[in-house]
Amino acid sequence: MATTAPDVSVFGDAIKYFNEAAELLDISDAMKQLLTKPARQIIFAIPFQRDNGGFEVYTGYRVQYSFVRGPAKGGIRYHPGVTLDEVTALAFWMTWKCAVVDLPFGGGKGGVTCDPTRLSASELERITRRYAAELFEVVGPDKDVPAPDVGTTPQIMAWFMDTYSMHRRQHTPGVVTGKPVALGGSRGRVEATGRGVELVAHAQMGALGIDPKGARVVVQGFGNVGSVAAALFAERGCTIVGISDVSGGYHNEKGIDVAAATAYAREHGSLEGYRDGEKISNERFLELPCEVLVPAALEKQFTAENAPRIKAKLIVEGANGPTTPEADRIFQERGIVVIPDILANAGGVIVSYFEWCQDRAGYFWKESEVNERLKDQLLSNFEAIAKVATSRNIPLRTAAYMIAIDRVAQAFTARGMYA
Ligand code: NAD
Repeated sequence: MATTAPDVSVFGDAIKYFNEAAELLDISDAMKQLLTKPARQIIFAIPFQRDNGGFEVYTGYRVQYSFVRGPAKGGIRYHPGVTLDEVTALAFWMTWKCAVVDLPFGGGKGGVTCDPTRLSASELERITRRYAAELFEVVGPDKDVPAPDVGTTPQIMAWFMDTYSMHRRQHTPGVVTGKPVALGGSRGRVEATGRGVELVAHAQMGALGIDPKGARVVVQGFGNVGSVAAALFAERGCTIVGISDVSGGYHNEKGIDVAAATAYAREHGSLEGYRDGEKISNERFLELPCEVLVPAALEKQFTAENAPRIKAKLIVEGANGPTTPEADRIFQERGIVVIPDILANAGGVIVSYFEWCQDRAGYFWKESEVNERLKDQLLSNFEAIAKVATSRNIPLRTAAYMIAIDRVAQAFTARGMYA
């Protein structure tokens, strides 16, 4: 099982967005070729023993898509459907995401084909340590810096950091970000992606004349990104009319109590059995009437099939790759504004960058300082993108890709080709 429709390549779709923007830039075909090939793809076996003595072998991946602007950077996904194609697409998006918010990183992503919801803590620890040990030579603060993604947590990052440090015989917190604060993690990192989603949504709601007070918001996925974003929308006065997770969708026109839902999901492991709302299917859920729709689960949620029925005015892509190019075109035709993933969910990698800086300096910032710098870095780049989009009359996604591709191409040109 792939996390997305297996018949269509996620990376193939991702390249379409690149090509659309690259067309509008004055870059050579050679440069386009260079930018559409991953620098390095690694696949390896992760043999592991279950608590009950049984034996299994998972597949581990790490794709280091680009080192042009700095060390590769990107999360690790634990999900049974992880594939090389998906990890490559995610590493590709990380390259543009880091560039679009102007971080000194390339792009990377990793994954393991396990289902973390069915594994004990000690099983997860063994998988993580084996994964980290396999990657020992190719990761490091100046090589490739992983972080959490779907199915991985600060605890998993702590095991990764410990394994790397033990092999290196040197305390190396900067090998990974998204760690617990007790181990060199940054204050504000856990909330950073959801916080960024709400910040750019708020800015765009202003531009569209949508009053946040009482605006209806629907959030798909109630994990790290979705639950934090929902809480911050509610704090701003919006009404959260729908939340969902792998167990299904929950709809309440009067507004969902996000804090109570978060506590419920934490206690029960998911929203299964949650009663403060009518339970609906994922299909109906995405089509709920609302002002703002936030996909914060997995890829390919909006397709040519359901895009005509989406009722939101604004879509803010908390997830990576939730919109297929066909759906994106339909949204453009229907006047639905989309804040693209590489910008909308960049809050996480921005604070990961802050964490990496703090680890290297051994000097840690207050949460208010982290949040203030996040807001500045994200919104200043958002404004630059919005300006290009308006002046050239192109979608925000194309404008974001143009800026990102131009930054990476400039760095490539300055470095020259060592061939
Ligand atoms: P998570 O594992 O914390 O949560 C994922 C959520 O999605 C869970 O609530 C899960 O139940 C739900 N889900 C899974 N399948 C679903 C389905 N078919 N329908 C509805 N819900 C479903 O993961 P996360 O870290 O919140 O990541 C969510 C998305 O955001 C991913 O696309 C990820 O790549 C992206 N993202 C995450 C970060 C980060 O810092 N964690 C940063 C940038 C982008």
